[in-house]
Amino acid sequence: MRDSVSREIEEVREIIAETASRAGRDPSDVKLMAVTKSVDDERIMEAIEAGVDMIGENYVQEAKRKIEKMGRKAPWHMIGHLQTNKAKYAVRLFDLVHSVNRIGLAQELARRSSQAGLVSRVLIEVNLSGEPTKSGAPPDQALSLIRECSRIPGLSIQGLMTMAPWSDNPEDARPIFRGLRQLRDRISGEKIEGISMKELSMGMSDDFQVAIEEGATIVRIGRRLFGERQK
Ligand SMILES: *Cc1c(COP(=O)(O)O)cnc(C)c1O
Repeated sequence: MRDSVSREIEEVREIIAETASRAGRDPSDVKLMAVTKSVDDERIMEAIEAGVDMIGENYVQEAKRKIEKMGRKAPWHMIGHLQTNKAKYAVRLFDLVHSVNRIGLAQELARRSSQAGLVSRVLIEVNLSGEPTKSGAPPDQALSLIRECSRIPGLSIQGLMTMAPWSDNPEDARPIFRGLRQLRDRISGEKIEGISMKELSMGMSDDFQVAIEEGATIVRIGRRLFGERQK
């Protein structure tokens, strides 16, 4: 038997605080996302009650059902691949979309937001590993994508997101996370009007400590809180 979800959250919080302090960072600058794909509603509620900073969902339909049922005591974020034809739902459901990787999606989010009198807060997902299965924008196109996005009303860029390749050694993720931070610094230096590079969404169950050392502001954690997912 695993410990209860709230116990796991408490433990992860402690690790986050220690890791941040050791890295000379303010622990309150690192937010904890509970990633809830395939997690049952009861345990999601437990995570919300235990005070995670946000819930991360991979699928629009699943998120819609859960949000209607559980409300918005914690903000809901979209972290999965987003189809352009789902943008119209996403603008109403999510406080932040982490997975904007192409101009067409950015334009559609902006168009749907403007229609609804809203502004979509987004991160630009970057594929630093070059793995074809990862869906982010190539790093050498991130700056031009962000420049283009910065001119679109209805869209508010808040930072960058990445996924490291799978590995059983967390250190393998370090160059990826460092690469995202360096890219963030480079883009910040461009002083593009109307965009923020405040958020770095990186690090999952096995490598979030490395991500914090490299500057993560949001760590996205599933299995470490809820156990292995059903296949
Ligand atoms: C599933 C998922 C996570 C969480 O992964 P764990 O290994 O369960 O911590 C984080 N980010 C994204 C984009 C995911 O799809």
